[in-house]
Amino acid sequence: MPAMSRVWLLLACVACTAPATAELEDDGPDGKEDGGSSSRFVEVDPSHTNAAFRKYIHRALDKLEANDTEIAALTLLSIKAGHIRIDELADLTCKDFERVRKDLPNLALEPADRDRLHDRDKEVATAIAGEIDGYMWSNRIYVSRGQSAQSLAATFVHETNHVINQSDVGYYTDLPTSGLIHEYRAFHAERMFDPSAYEGVDLVDYVLTEYDLDRTKVKPSVLANPLTPHLLPDEDAWTERRVQDDPVEPIDCDPLRPVGQDGLEVRRVNRAP
Ligand SMILES: [Zn+2]
Repeated sequence: MPAMSRVWLLLACVACTAPATAELEDDGPDGKEDGGSSSRFVEVDPSHTNAAFRKYIHRALDKLEANDTEIAALTLLSIKAGHIRIDELADLTCKDFERVRKDLPNLALEPADRDRLHDRDKEVATAIAGEIDGYMWSNRIYVSRGQSAQSLAATFVHETNHVINQSDVGYYTDLPTSGLIHEYRAFHAERMFDPSAYEGVDLVDYVLTEYDLDRTKVKPSVLANPLTPHLLPDEDAWTERRVQDDPVEPIDCDPLRPVGQDGLEVRRVNRAP
């Protein structure tokens, strides 16, 4: 089990499943573009796709399919229905890249670095993946390459829970209490999917520590009972969440235009409880 590392990102999250094993595959010189598609998930940017990426996602979806919990089945259904859109960090939309860039100041990325995400040397993509293994905004979930199938499946469960609860908005409303509420729930969802990853872990302590949340400033009633709806991405949750009403953002934009910082989800790489 790797050592914990303090998370410095504003809304950082640690991956809670087994350490990732390398599953990097060669996308070929042209990056993620072969014109194909998957019937099992919707990509944020379908114009950039290839068989290796789809296979990478499919392996995680297979893990969800093989899991006999209700939350795994509903997460899988949510992905297949397109309630969630998936892509890799190298395919961040312009605005999402700006959000990530500003949340990772230590990388000193420039707006123009988005154009380098698909460079053959993978310098920019590797730098970002060295910091985070996932990111969400609205119903878009971006993941790093190279995660184990089980870890990626758990990431989907965790991030889907954030999407149905619109954590990109609610996380900041009443910190640190709101942060604990949103992360505790997402980790609880992961634990439902893979209890073995959380054996002996006090989830409240875990979230408070990893998110650097001050226990003394969290509402005592929430500390005592942190779990709130919605837990399952079922039909009722999606009826209420209405992701179709979220602002539509273009894939490309003017990177110099400011973007909001009020809500994002970042997960650290290769950390287990
Ligand atoms: Zn989270």
